[in-house]
Amino acid sequence: MEVKDLLSVVHTYGSPVYVYDANKISAQYERLTKAFAAVPSLRINYAMKALSNVSILKLMRKLGAGLDTVSIQEVKLGLHAGFAPEQIIFTPNGVSMEEIEEAASLGVQLNIDNLSILEQFGSKHPQIPVCIRINPHVMAGGNSKISVGHIDSKFGISIHQIPHILRIVENTKMHINGIHMHTGSDILDIDVFLYAAEILFDAAKHFRELKFIDFGSGFKVPYKEGDIQTDIEELGEKLSQRFLEFCKLYGRNLTLAFEPGKFLVSEAGFFLVKVNVVKQTTSTVFAQIDSGFNHLIRPMFYGATHFIENISNPEGKKRFYSVVGYICETDTFASNRQIAEISEGDILCFRNAGAYCYTMASNYNSRPRPAEVLWIDGQAKLIRKAETLEDLLRNQVEIDL
Ligand SMILES: *Cc1c(COP(=O)(O)O)cnc(C)c1O
Repeated sequence: MEVKDLLSVVHTYGSPVYVYDANKISAQYERLTKAFAAVPSLRINYAMKALSNVSILKLMRKLGAGLDTVSIQEVKLGLHAGFAPEQIIFTPNGVSMEEIEEAASLGVQLNIDNLSILEQFGSKHPQIPVCIRINPHVMAGGNSKISVGHIDSKFGISIHQIPHILRIVENTKMHINGIHMHTGSDILDIDVFLYAAEILFDAAKHFRELKFIDFGSGFKVPYKEGDIQTDIEELGEKLSQRFLEFCKLYGRNLTLAFEPGKFLVSEAGFFLVKVNVVKQTTSTVFAQIDSGFNHLIRPMFYGATHFIENISNPEGKKRFYSVVGYICETDTFASNRQIAEISEGDILCFRNAGAYCYTMASNYNSRPRPAEVLWIDGQAKLIRKAETLEDLLRNQVEIDL
């Protein structure tokens, strides 16, 4: 997308607004499938918690992706978007047996991540095959909130509990059709990932009815210039080769599955905001925008760095700014950041706003959530209206006082 396209979206739909570039999503999807072209059976299940707008789901389905879901509501949204139940994997953590059974009744692939549910489910529904989520205890991840494979993590069944899993499987006569790991977001080191994959292969040997091995996700995308990113091509080459060797040893061709979120949608997203106030203090210059962590919380929640550019004055002289929001609480998007000279009314563009931005937005300060627009075939398509005051009042029950 070009600057003039982004500005035209703000012109039509106002600010703040989220814009997603369909071409970028397709390009990322193709890049991933190309990197694993050597594997005859590959499945990319889009982790929809990154960006769950139904039109984005439909786009993913059109590209050939399946869906990775973490709640029964995500499962239902996926079905609503037209995915067949077999194209959906349900990978929840800490949900009730009732929720697991409801997902099973909808026909989606279950991925179970604790021994208690495994035993209960296997006893009641031994005929329904399930995948198991293994925790290989490998530390891989950008920061502690998104590292989910280490020893203290709440995710997955410990690799050291394989004997217990096998006992449950034997006792209940249940069927294990897949084995899964998701070591956490942000794979920086391919060797660490391959090491975790070896642990998963080792575990896989114990299960004779596998149809697929799911390596989760954690592909890192660049957030700022010079950022390291996962070398997908190198990972594809190395893991494909090991996977095919494993299949030979296992005696059957299996499906290799991934469930990327960020990789597919992060860079496709732009968050466009307007500068309300430029405030010079004794120590800095604040650019105060018409948004806050109610709309984009990653900088405050994860310490994430989002590249910010002034698209109203792209060629302007660079100056240092603290970009902050309008929330009545500290909400710093960037401090001491070099940005082309900002005037009040300018439009700033946050990059990498596709993943974990809109889906984490809230109504804090009683602010409505912004509109979402998909840029497709050179046109802006509204895919979610901005909320209004009516939306804020919708489920409130006013009592007489
Ligand atoms: C969040 C999540 C993903 C996606 O992670 P990304 O870093 O966005 O690619 C994949 N699998 C599971 C089980 C997840 O919870």
